[in-house]
Amino acid sequence: MVLLSLSPVGLKRLLRVLACNCIEDQLVINHSKSKVIVFSRKRRKYRWQVNGTSINQVPSYRYLGILFHKSGLWRSQVESARAIALRSSKALLSFFCSKGGHYVPSAIRVFTAKVISKLLYGAQVSNYNSHLPFEIIQTKFLRSILAVPPCISNAKLRYITGMPSIESQIWILKFRYWMKLIFEPVGLSPLILIDNFQSKWKKSLSLQLTSLGFSIPYVISLGRSKALLAITQRILDVDFQNVLSCLGPRFASSPSLKPFTSAQFLYHLSIPRLRKAFTMAKFDVLPSALLEGRFNRIPQTESYCPCDSGAIETAGHVLLECRFYTSLRSHFIIPLFQKFPSRDKKFFAQYLLADINSPITCKVMNFFAAAIDTRRDLMSKEPLT
Ligand SMILES: [Zn+2]
Repeated sequence: MVLLSLSPVGLKRLLRVLACNCIEDQLVINHSKSKVIVFSRKRRKYRWQVNGTSINQVPSYRYLGILFHKSGLWRSQVESARAIALRSSKALLSFFCSKGGHYVPSAIRVFTAKVISKLLYGAQVSNYNSHLPFEIIQTKFLRSILAVPPCISNAKLRYITGMPSIESQIWILKFRYWMKLIFEPVGLSPLILIDNFQSKWKKSLSLQLTSLGFSIPYVISLGRSKALLAITQRILDVDFQNVLSCLGPRFASSPSLKPFTSAQFLYHLSIPRLRKAFTMAKFDVLPSALLEGRFNRIPQTESYCPCDSGAIETAGHVLLECRFYTSLRSHFIIPLFQKFPSRDKKFFAQYLLADINSPITCKVMNFFAAAIDTRRDLMSKEPLT
């Protein structure tokens, strides 16, 4: 049970009424479990009693799984949810690498069910200042299961795995809860609706609705299910556009583009070495002069391949041109060209990395995995200067 009051005097009155009601109904109050929390910026401590027994005033209290702090801020709940989710995420990673068979689609499903659900718990009534602590957990998990280096950004990881941002999922939850209050008010929710107090939660929803291009009267005119569908779709569209803007034009024009669906190659292959090689090639972060240049601030136009051809060491160069990989290319890649005899190299580079056809993707994966080994062997004999 929760007793709410706007003033200490009001709360003391409520406690007296509670004590009387308990005596009448022969109920016993558990004083050690009962706590008082005063939401205020001032650090004032009051003395609270019920039936002559003291009740502690505490700085924070967990109610129905949500950690409320006396400051009225959500920092404590964010930290608490993050810590709980992180434990689950680490346990899942450990399972993924041992009995989980390195199968990414299953790991993502379990992550959504067991870890994201913990991050989202209570978020429908929240007003978080920043979602970054939550996004970091998702990013680290995706990076670990794909075994790719930190230079692959959150947007790229989410593009490959088809994961919306945690922020998007929180907004969808908040709107779903808000619509429940509007369209199907039950219990105490009618009281929330007639309350004129403009909470930060209400203001945040109103601002977000406007930024998504909706108005409250329009949303109400749509009805609950249509409104929720339209808002959810708009949130995911905006999220996906943000992802694309981080990837560059090559991905925006990809023929296999579908918002928030896992890449096909994740379903067909669970060999980490091949999956990692293909992911790195797709985002042009293979071990190369290009990647080293990024860390050493060497311009992309000066990141020459050690093959002395004067070409930049891109994934496209490795795939189609570099003399280091001629025999690998003859084995894995050249046979794939026969289907398109008149197309140029730019087309082939995009086609082979597009992951449209799983047998082709499998050959390209094998090529890049072998190319990484070949380059490592060559460089160990003749280190880059
Ligand atoms: Zn080369």
